[in-house]
Amino acid sequence: MVTDDKFYLSLALNEAWKYQGLTYPNPAVGCAVTDKNGVLLACAAHKKAGLPHAELEAAKEALFKLNPLLIFPSEPNELHAFIGKNHDNLLKNSTFYVTLEPCSHQGLTPSCAHLIVTLGAKKVFIGSLDKTKKAKGGAQILKKGGVEVEEGVLKDECDELLEPFLLWQNESFSFFKLALRLDGTYDNGIITSHEARIFMHKIRNACDLIVIGGETMRADNPILDARLSGGKAPDALVCTSKNIEKNANIFSVKDRKVLVQNSAEFPKEYKNIMIEGGSNFLRAMSGKADRFLIFHSSDFSAKGVKRIETDLRLKLLYQGFIGNCSFGWYGKMI
Ligand SMILES: [Zn+2]
Repeated sequence: MVTDDKFYLSLALNEAWKYQGLTYPNPAVGCAVTDKNGVLLACAAHKKAGLPHAELEAAKEALFKLNPLLIFPSEPNELHAFIGKNHDNLLKNSTFYVTLEPCSHQGLTPSCAHLIVTLGAKKVFIGSLDKTKKAKGGAQILKKGGVEVEEGVLKDECDELLEPFLLWQNESFSFFKLALRLDGTYDNGIITSHEARIFMHKIRNACDLIVIGGETMRADNPILDARLSGGKAPDALVCTSKNIEKNANIFSVKDRKVLVQNSAEFPKEYKNIMIEGGSNFLRAMSGKADRFLIFHSSDFSAKGVKRIETDLRLKLLYQGFIGNCSFGWYGKMI
């Protein structure tokens, strides 16, 4: 196997994709670190807003590998300061591989570009450039700090990873979530494993709106919360021309707004939107979905009757595995 810059960046990409859908309002970002001899020290991702950025997490893992006696604080600002004081030049002449240009600014956490300079890294390979006003300019900070920078490695793949972030920064990002059995059915009971459903609830927790159609509402009477992950329920939009019963489960969640409307126009204040449903709703909404998140269980079931009937050509961007299920993030074929 050739272990070149693309290989290490692909490790970072793969790690970042595991957290796609969980990092809102931040982008999914991955980072790999090698030592001065090209030996892999760490590969990490940004897992959730408020937790360390990928570079900070990777620097922590790399330092821990080189000095297991270090006890790191978990709070990102404290972690950043701790690493700045205690790195002991262990990462001097290391190489960082990041899917997105390291941030230049102090947000919830301090600048990753400054951290990499402080660590004395030799080179940083960057996939996508950060064009957001507040975070861009990280590459300049690195160069000024004496770090070599190479941009545009696996750029197309890194841009695909970043796309949801760019969309919700701009207007909104919406994705259609489906769960299918191996035989292609999706009705009559729970489809995926408990672990996969916890993961789905984590993704719901990161959404600010969940959209379903009247058919799902009537067939499943869903709650649409994030209870399995201990997370918050997003606001809900039911697209239907019919009335909904006042005691429907969807109304049972405290502090969540439920919108019922005939049209499929999403209110502008919502930025990260999950659409759920079956065959008819997929056909109706596929034009509005920027991505598709499709779970496959490993079961055939005699209970399942309904299958997806539509023509849709998708491009598989990432495939993951969780609790005896697989899932894929898909884009549309252009
Ligand atoms: Zn950062």
